[in-house]
Amino acid sequence: MIRRSFSPRIVVGVLFFLLTAFAIPNQAVEAQLQQITTPEEFFGFQMGADRTIARWDRMVEYYNLLQQQSPRIHVVEMGPSTLGNPFLALFISAPDNLARLEELRQINAQLSDPRGIPEDRIRSLVAAGKVVINQSMSLHATEIGGSLMAVELAYDLASRNDEEALRILDNVIFTMIPSLNPDGQIMVTDWYRETVGTEFEGASYPSLYHIYTGHDNNRDAFMTNTIESVYQATLMFREWIPQAYIDHHQMGSYSARYYVPPYAEPIRPFSDPLVWREMSWYGAHIAYKEEEAGLSGIINSAIYGGWGHFGFHWITPFHNIAGMLTEAASSRLATPIYIHPDELRGGRRQMPAHEPQTTFPNPWPGGWWRLRDIVERQKVSAWATLDIAARNKETVLWNAYLKAKRQTERGASGDRAAYIIPAEQHDSRTMLVLIEKLLGQGIEVQQSDLGFTHEDKVYGPGTFVVSMAQPKMGLVRWLLGRTFYPQNSYTIDQLGNTIRPYDMAGDVFAEFMGVHVDEVGTQVAAPLSIVSGPMNPVGTVSAGAFGYRLDGRLNHSFKAVNMLFDEGVDVRRVHTAVGNLVPGDFLVGSDADADLEEVAIQTGVDFEALSTDATSSSFNVQRLRVGMYQRYYGGNMDEGWTRWLLEHYDFPYTTLMDAAITAGDLANDYDVIILPADRVSAMTGEGGETESGPYATGPESYPPEYRSGFGQAGVDALRAFVEHGGTLLTFAEAGDLPIEKFGLPLTNEVANKPGKEFWCPGSTLRMKFDNTHPLAYGMPEEGLGTFLARNHAYGIESTPHSHRIQIVAEFPERDLLQSGWLIGEELIAEKAAMVSAEFGEGRIVMIGFRAQHRAQTHGTFKLVFNALVSGPQSN
Ligand SMILES: [Zn+2]
Repeated sequence: MIRRSFSPRIVVGVLFFLLTAFAIPNQAVEAQLQQITTPEEFFGFQMGADRTIARWDRMVEYYNLLQQQSPRIHVVEMGPSTLGNPFLALFISAPDNLARLEELRQINAQLSDPRGIPEDRIRSLVAAGKVVINQSMSLHATEIGGSLMAVELAYDLASRNDEEALRILDNVIFTMIPSLNPDGQIMVTDWYRETVGTEFEGASYPSLYHIYTGHDNNRDAFMTNTIESVYQATLMFREWIPQAYIDHHQMGSYSARYYVPPYAEPIRPFSDPLVWREMSWYGAHIAYKEEEAGLSGIINSAIYGGWGHFGFHWITPFHNIAGMLTEAASSRLATPIYIHPDELRGGRRQMPAHEPQTTFPNPWPGGWWRLRDIVERQKVSAWATLDIAARNKETVLWNAYLKAKRQTERGASGDRAAYIIPAEQHDSRTMLVLIEKLLGQGIEVQQSDLGFTHEDKVYGPGTFVVSMAQPKMGLVRWLLGRTFYPQNSYTIDQLGNTIRPYDMAGDVFAEFMGVHVDEVGTQVAAPLSIVSGPMNPVGTVSAGAFGYRLDGRLNHSFKAVNMLFDEGVDVRRVHTAVGNLVPGDFLVGSDADADLEEVAIQTGVDFEALSTDATSSSFNVQRLRVGMYQRYYGGNMDEGWTRWLLEHYDFPYTTLMDAAITAGDLANDYDVIILPADRVSAMTGEGGETESGPYATGPESYPPEYRSGFGQAGVDALRAFVEHGGTLLTFAEAGDLPIEKFGLPLTNEVANKPGKEFWCPGSTLRMKFDNTHPLAYGMPEEGLGTFLARNHAYGIESTPHSHRIQIVAEFPERDLLQSGWLIGEELIAEKAAMVSAEFGEGRIVMIGFRAQHRAQTHGTFKLVFNALVSGPQSN
């Protein structure tokens, strides 16, 4: 049984900071409105003017100046971005409101979770409260318009004194994230300035514009791996629950000029229906005000379906927030683009042609399209959202109450009453990561001190319970409950072709994380206490006669081992079960010269007393020298996420660009080379086109130093590396490289299959792991893996050399689908999901699915980690 104490040492820094920030009254409350510096005066040009972009550091200066000049602006620096730039939240409202922000926050919190509050009290809270609106800008940093629009929007709200502006300020607390990706804002601005005036002006950014995630930074709102996601989630899901949220983006250049809410079909179930009605309501007002302003090319209810990924704008409906998106047609960064009328076309989902329709009555006629056009449309939409909320404050707040109340009632009366997360888990430490993630969403989690029996199952002390009788029940359902993507006319066309989901077909993060959850139909009656977090378990250190054991099932044991490697400590690993030790367990001698207590504190891993001599059942495990390939053309997000993962578990690695690969002699410097998921042509540079970002273009649009591809020389060097004893580790479609170029006798059984035959667009599938194989040490015998479109399932061609190929993971015979969408399971049933193939003196390890997808699939991280430490054969 595993129970853990929780360390009070680490305070939630962000929350603490925000609360203290709110306690500081705005010094200028009583001050008269003074002259407000205009953006043009400060920056020297209009926001969105051709061929100029304001840089984030200057924007920060401007916002601080506005705070000094206007009692309506309160700047909160939430902390450093990933690369250390200031991450800001602006609170914009009437001075009277800003002076009592904490009081208004508490009113908002009660309306957002009204459990136990009588209705007459709710009515007085609605009267006293203010609407909370959040809008965020330029998360995708190349979609630069939003961060520029925010400057003008803040200025307008600080300086305008007309009735409309004053009504907004009086009735709304506007929390604005002027850049949801400050690092990217700087990267893109500097890149643009480098290329402007050259033949490469306006070329898209060549690398990931968030250092780890690139465009995937909006697939992170539920796992909150990046600090930027943590800030936004803290603000929107814990401190303030806004009634509405808009994330401002840009899209391709050749369809509508501006998409505004609501979404097209399909939508996801399990939110309160009022949320979807609200999106239509805000969206209609936005579109109406755009037309009033004479701005053409506005479309709503098209292109973007309501069932997307769990980025902020698509997860917010399940937080009872009207979570919305705008998408402006892109110019080439700040360089205008000319579009002929016959280049204009329709869009996905309910926009068959670029012709007038109910939701698109005023097509843009074509011509020059400028960044300024984007900024103007965005600003109208941002303002209109504030305007309609201000005009209807009491309705909006009453409905905030209704949404929360009705969702709680649905959760209490539905056939899914609660999710129980048993204390006994395969990887109990990762379970605590899941609990921490739930708390980060503002979900209520309870815990049993004593254990209990429920629906004929015994649960041990420390078991967690997540009741559906809470306002965020819809989110609980999606994150913890098994789900299936719908198959209907919105997802399969009239010819029977599958229509790809916007992103994944499922977001069940318990499944991603390998955490077992029981769905139960009745409420748990046992005494439970509410968990407050943070979940920072402190591991214990107990010396035995033969030293210590670290549980090989825990992902965090690898972090602990890496910390021990840093100290030069000898670590052994069990290869044969003995006593209570199983293959994969790590052993540390009693003479280890390291601060084990500190390792236990930092990782939450126990150093358990080792009382048996397991020397003959174990091998000396070594840290391997790891290199990972990185390319240009927008970067490879899987590479970025893998870097994130390695760094968070303290695996050292070296980034290998083309020159390092083609130089050869790789086996001298590396034991393992990782090829993150990627097409062969993108790695070799032989095919040209890549698929990064909304305006991906061919290699020739980049300056020569930003073109990449290791070509045949790189292929030869990688082959020589393996032949000389190296391990090549490929993720998903990168496995095509050794198959195509090295002649491995493996086939991808689902290569080029049409969707009617095989379809698995982001689902969790059941797999079997050979946990006696060193590459699957610490894995359960059966578990779940995340399988995306274009991932691989391997078949083995019959040759006399099949003994050189080992199957590490395979799909079972039937019933493969756990959550998501799967067509054609017979094509992958009993095929290999992960193989290890001997090749020369080395080996090629191919993981056909996404074992480390977006650093979210904790349940299969060990398949990667095991490949980065030595196995028994190298001893
Ligand atoms: Zn975007």
